[in-house]
Amino acid sequence: MKTKKRILSLILCIIFIMILVFSSAFILTHEHHNCTGADCPVCAQIQAVVNILNSIKAVIVLLFSFGGLFVFTCKKVLNEHDKNDSCESPFKLKVKLSI
Ligand SMILES: [Zn+2]
Repeated sequence: MKTKKRILSLILCIIFIMILVFSSAFILTHEHHNCTGADCPVCAQIQAVVNILNSIKAVIVLLFSFGGLFVFTCKKVLNEHDKNDSCESPFKLKVKLSI
């Protein structure tokens, strides 16, 4: 099961990288094409590719934002926990409880 998840993750990463590379290559190679005007199919395809890249960029920004917020919140909670952990207990004070 774990191997299947790894393989699926690897395949998704490869697909993601291929989308980025081929989309960027398409834009770069067709940037100065012979444009036919308002109904140019190349311009429409370039616009579609730009939209895909912008949506991927938005997803990446959101993931990093929420990831950063999650790490910041975890650190804050752990720091508060460490501060509150200073309560003294007989165990921490190494008090011998003998009768
Ligand atoms: Zn065009």
